[in-house]
Amino acid sequence: MSTPTAPATAEPANLGLIARFPEEWEAEFAAWGEPKYRARQLFRWLLRRGEFEPSQMSDLAIGLRERLRSAGLRTPAEVAHVKRSSDGTRKLLLALSDGGQVECVLIPMTRLDADADASAAVEDETEASEPAERTKVTLCISTQFGCAMGCKFCASGRAGLLRGLKAAEIVAQVLISRRYLEPDEDIKNLVFMGMGEPLHHYDETARALRLLMHPEGLGMSPRRITVSTVGLVPGIRRLGRDFDGKMGLAISLHAPNDEVRSRIMPMNERYPIAELMQALRDYPLPKRRRVTIEYTLMDAVNDQPEHAEELARLLRGVPVKVNLIPMNPVDGSGFKAPSPGRVAEFQQILSNAGYSCFVRTRRGDEVDAACGQLALSRDIITLKRPSPPAQ
Ligand code: SAH
Repeated sequence: MSTPTAPATAEPANLGLIARFPEEWEAEFAAWGEPKYRARQLFRWLLRRGEFEPSQMSDLAIGLRERLRSAGLRTPAEVAHVKRSSDGTRKLLLALSDGGQVECVLIPMTRLDADADASAAVEDETEASEPAERTKVTLCISTQFGCAMGCKFCASGRAGLLRGLKAAEIVAQVLISRRYLEPDEDIKNLVFMGMGEPLHHYDETARALRLLMHPEGLGMSPRRITVSTVGLVPGIRRLGRDFDGKMGLAISLHAPNDEVRSRIMPMNERYPIAELMQALRDYPLPKRRRVTIEYTLMDAVNDQPEHAEELARLLRGVPVKVNLIPMNPVDGSGFKAPSPGRVAEFQQILSNAGYSCFVRTRRGDEVDAACGQLALSRDIITLKRPSPPAQ
């Protein structure tokens, strides 16, 4: 399937304008001679309604709209393509204003997911009061165009890191994806599990998190947001401090010891497992909350019963829940998923050891939107790395 590329916007958007907090607009507007309350009006247009086009901001004076337009306020991303999978998953390909591309994925929860979610959610006292008839959707967003972490089994880093996304581009993925919800759907969870390593460029990620949480914007609760990391220890510590442990945290662990982990995840050399586990113990989680451990099961690499037992020992005493992800196919990676029997056995060992442990069902597979498959499409790879001309 070919992916039409959106026409590049004539002039790149001034991304800083979308990532401003009301107080920052107030300071700017004071210099422009605009009343203070305009700051909140504008912030709401941008961060609550997701309207980036000044001409549509009907309660702002025409002169101000014009000034914002000439300052470079415009959409930070255009939807270049939407792929729908029969399971309801929608993958959006967004064209950024400098020609970069990122993907975000809307994943409706199935009954099965909802059950797993509820039983994992002793931690979540609001669960029962939510209207049952609305479909809960998880939105998965990207934080970088490409990735520098080099995990051997993941497609996102194949072409290396092209660039980190600005806070505006991170929040825009949420604001734009909302337009693709069905009328009965709500975004219940936001996961930073798309392309890129969110803690690799911490400042933009943290700014995006604050913008998304802002009460005059979407007012998202940090309990509904999960930042997933390969295990960058200083970033984990900073995230814990800056958000008082309230931000959901997921760790891509994928191995119970350094020997296996370093083989598949080069970052483990820098932050080995003992250091990572210490950072998790120190993460100031509120009571009853848990860190998610992601564990991609790869045939004959990390899927043996002794790996499960070693993992159970490693995680002892750390408040965690475990998500097992049978390896999604990535061409040429040389890794494959274990048999369903092996997955079940692995899960059983962890459950018997007292962990809540779920197997993540494969979603969005047919549109290459499953974990580790983002940026797999040839059209995107081509865009990043033009093939050399034939000799
Ligand atoms: N860099 C962050 C965010 C990426 S999240 C992180 O590493 O956590 C994407 C999740 O999918 C990670 O847990 C990643 O390890 C996992 N993943 C990557 N490739 C995969 C594949 N081929 N099959 C299953 N899971 C994969």
